[in-house]
Amino acid sequence: MTRIELKNLSYTYSNQVAQAAVLRNVSLAIESGELVALVGPSGSGKSTLVSLLGGMLRPPPESLFFDVIDVSRLTEHERAILRNQHLGFVFQQFHLVPRMRILDNILLPATCSPVGVAAQALAERAKELASQFGVQDCLQKLPNQLSGGQQQRAAIARALLMNPRIIIADEPTGSLDSDNGREIMRLLEDANKAGTTVIIVTHDHDIAKRCNRIIEMRDGKVTADRSSDRLSGCATPHSRVLKDEGLPALQHKDRRNLLDWRSISLVFLNLRRNWLRSLLTMLGVAVGIAAVLAMTTLGEYTKRSILSSYEILGANKISFRAWPNWEKKASDQVKEEFEEFTERDISTVASLFTDVEMLAPEITAWRSSALAGGLKMESINLRGVGAAYLTITNREIARGTGISARQVELASPVCVLGHEVVSQIFRRVDPLGAVLFINSGDNLFSCRVVGVLAHVSLPDAKPQPDEQVFIPYTYAQLVISNPWERLVSSVIGRVKSGTDVERLSKGIKSYFEVKYGKSVRFNVGGDEVLISQAKRFLSIFSLLLGSIAGVALLIAGTGLTNMMLVAVAERYREIGIRKAVGATDASIMRLFLGESISLCLVAGIFGLILGFAIYETLIWLASQATDKVTFSWILLPSAFGLSFVGIVAIGLLSGIVPAIRARRLQIVEALRSE
Ligand code: ADP
Repeated sequence: MTRIELKNLSYTYSNQVAQAAVLRNVSLAIESGELVALVGPSGSGKSTLVSLLGGMLRPPPESLFFDVIDVSRLTEHERAILRNQHLGFVFQQFHLVPRMRILDNILLPATCSPVGVAAQALAERAKELASQFGVQDCLQKLPNQLSGGQQQRAAIARALLMNPRIIIADEPTGSLDSDNGREIMRLLEDANKAGTTVIIVTHDHDIAKRCNRIIEMRDGKVTADRSSDRLSGCATPHSRVLKDEGLPALQHKDRRNLLDWRSISLVFLNLRRNWLRSLLTMLGVAVGIAAVLAMTTLGEYTKRSILSSYEILGANKISFRAWPNWEKKASDQVKEEFEEFTERDISTVASLFTDVEMLAPEITAWRSSALAGGLKMESINLRGVGAAYLTITNREIARGTGISARQVELASPVCVLGHEVVSQIFRRVDPLGAVLFINSGDNLFSCRVVGVLAHVSLPDAKPQPDEQVFIPYTYAQLVISNPWERLVSSVIGRVKSGTDVERLSKGIKSYFEVKYGKSVRFNVGGDEVLISQAKRFLSIFSLLLGSIAGVALLIAGTGLTNMMLVAVAERYREIGIRKAVGATDASIMRLFLGESISLCLVAGIFGLILGFAIYETLIWLASQATDKVTFSWILLPSAFGLSFVGIVAIGLLSGIVPAIRARRLQIVEALRSE
């Protein structure tokens, strides 16, 4: 049994300008199974009273009781359960959600239920109620395709879906003609006969007369409370046949209702309604996501391809160069004078610094030319090198062999030729085994060709790798005439991958500075410094690209927030209806967040495809414009991951403000809005 009791209930709206309370000291009790009419002139407080009874407004403490439960003490969530499980509402304006089919409207209390419901059974019950009320043929229609009477019948079916103990009807026949009004009244009477308490706000005397009790209000007070003469026709109080064990505990656990996700389909209905606005907003999100994907991918791609071209030259290469310090003062004490790197220097570095895999000395001779068999190449780049040199610099031997350690040791007159040297001098003769004459400075000397190098494409490199001729550095020291040129002032080496090259370079530098003191000027090779500078530049470049993408995403997010805010404003009434049938504030928030996230997901997936197309097109265009770029298909998981994070973040962030706004909406005000 559910007894409603009002004890000295006074109510003032918080935003009310006038001082007088809307309800003043109302005290009355409504027993289970009564059929009550609430009458009185407009503005007398009837709607306020039923809104309080319906848990849509919070009553003052100790003024409204359902059995022994003080409604003012219920939490927002418990009041939602009260509305959902124990109360049913019928409104003058029907309040069906416009874009939902009638069946979904009838099922709304189940969809919005804050507690777990038997979805299948309720779907059956919805259809049963619909056929009982003669709207079984309208289930798939939208509310605006129905007459007023049909809409109100559907609304009563909705009110009865959860089998409530109390039905509150605020002028249910106010918008209907008398025939339809009578029919609606009959349905409410039937519900009452089945044991449900029915409270009807009405202006219509005929309707009031059909009830067993008439409560009259004026200026917020109850002025009369009498039983109608027609008591005999009405159900007697306490005649509820259905199981009635009083108001069960309201502290249900908030089970997240999966049915909520059905509402997501509404997102797409809403989208269709404002398709241009939605399309533009979604386009904004898609472009933002496309920008994030394209820019991060291109940034990373550029970084990788630039760094990998360094790797061709040897990114794990280290080079150092030293020369005597001419500015050394006579007073500077020096243990050992530096003249050139000695064999011992090189082997000591190799044993001290374990990150160094191999080392090779290097001597470069300027102004050299080569000739053989009557053909001459005016300008070659002659290098005297250690055995490991070609391996360190990743030079591929096309034919023959490289320079061996033995040949270095013996200062053998052998040479390995770059591709261009071969094509200019050995046009018709096999170079392997042939003798090449080299003119360097004032000296003319010969060497036997033991190997030919593969072609290397580095258009900007100076000197060109293909114009190089390598001889053992020991042989070079014998044949180069310039005494400065033949000093071993440069050593290159290969380090283990993952080595901190800059740190290693510093270590080697300090070793030589300690050994030779002020007599040496030492310089660590340029590649590593260049690479670290390039890395820094590329990071700034990526950051810049990322920022541009971020701005694009921000603009898209603002657009989406704006659209969602408009959607909330347009759907005030729907939010009010949902809350009235039992949706909790949290579930309303989830609904709008779900909408913005699913919108973002759809737009985001499109954005990912668009972004992919954009960056692949750009790479293709670049590959057409310059042969330094080759076209390839790139899918960077990190860039996709970042874009996906962007999608979810933008969905959440742009949904949160509208969701909070929807959550805060008062039911009574939401229902009143147009
Ligand atoms: P009735 O249903 O009898 O016409 P209401 O309960 O709707 O009366 O209104 C009673 C009084 O309360 C009216 O003076 C009305 O202006 C005021 N009122 C109703 N709703 C609000 C509100 N949300 N904010 C401020 N005042 C309100």
